[in-house]
Amino acid sequence: MRWKRRKKDMPSGLWLQCPDCKKPIFRQEMEKRKKVCPDCSYHFPLNAAERIAATLDEGSFDEMHADLAPSDRLEFVDTKAYKDRLDQAQAKTGLKDAAVVGVGKIKGIDVAFGVLDFSFIGGSMGYVVGEKIARITETAIERNLPLILFSGSGGARMMEGAISLMQMGKTCAALARLDEAKGFYVSVLTNPTTGGVTASYASMGDVTIAEPGALIGFAGPRVIKTTIKQELPEGFQTSEFMLEHGFVDRIVSRAKLRDELAHIIGYFTGVEPQEPEGDDRDAATANDDSATATAADDPKGKSKAKAKDKSKGKGKDKEKSKDADTGSSKSKADASDADSRNAKAPAADDRSDDSEESGDEVGAGSKSSSGSRSGSADEKS
Ligand SMILES: [Zn+2]
Repeated sequence: MRWKRRKKDMPSGLWLQCPDCKKPIFRQEMEKRKKVCPDCSYHFPLNAAERIAATLDEGSFDEMHADLAPSDRLEFVDTKAYKDRLDQAQAKTGLKDAAVVGVGKIKGIDVAFGVLDFSFIGGSMGYVVGEKIARITETAIERNLPLILFSGSGGARMMEGAISLMQMGKTCAALARLDEAKGFYVSVLTNPTTGGVTASYASMGDVTIAEPGALIGFAGPRVIKTTIKQELPEGFQTSEFMLEHGFVDRIVSRAKLRDELAHIIGYFTGVEPQEPEGDDRDAATANDDSATATAADDPKGKSKAKAKDKSKGKGKDKEKSKDADTGSSKSKADASDADSRNAKAPAADDRSDDSEESGDEVGAGSKSSSGSRSGSADEKS
């Protein structure tokens, strides 16, 4: 009788299933660890606010151009009117568009900062996103600040037609000016970074960092495979593959990302990074090892070793969590169908309704285009 009542009292959504290792995860534990699966270190997507909170010093972020809002110049309709998509995305995320930019501090060092929110129409780049990225780049030039941009995007926003493609040139031109001004830009690629975002500013970092297991590419593997009618290399388009092929400089797990960014930026600016007093946000994750050691009390302890492998290439996770019938290179192969799971990742998250939306929306984008610029969407279909 008693347990029955307790069960009733239990709020729903206390547990969720990891889309990678398929194990049930205690949500609170996962959130405490910056939304990383405690068992296999799968990185759940973060929205813009979560990313800012996880990266910058508490309360240091000063948003800019927040009032820039998109408009439906083409009066575009696919499965839905673009205007309705915008209304829904705005209501759902509280954002005007997918990019959030501004200035803030990372361990006391001033930076210009931008992030794409994948839950807003798949983080796609339309006029507003391109404009905000260009403007924050200009702010970096004017104020002589290092620039950090986080990408997570299905690509150019095809509902804005050619205007969305022009953003590729606009953002890159701004970054070229930053380069001329001897500025410094760190690009962080998160799952998924595809299409016109990969093909423009996300690939132009002086240093390019990726989160483990992220899908990074232009068109999705399935589209490429059917176009060239050839088998793709193992692990094609994962962070690990990109690292191996020189497209990415470093893979950094989320638990270490803030430290790593502060270190790199500190090196560039010559300012010693200092953790602000009383900032214990990393307490849960920074000592990832001890956090996992706790997990080791139960039989899931293996995650510790895996978490450590992170920065070298997380193939091992894949291998472990899936039918690991071959060696470590197999892990790469797994990763390619991990892609599809990764791309679906948001659906497994608590923002499931959002992401179904965004998936749908990126998909719609791809349908309206030649299909070449929405890798993640292709993964879904
Ligand atoms: Zn997992």
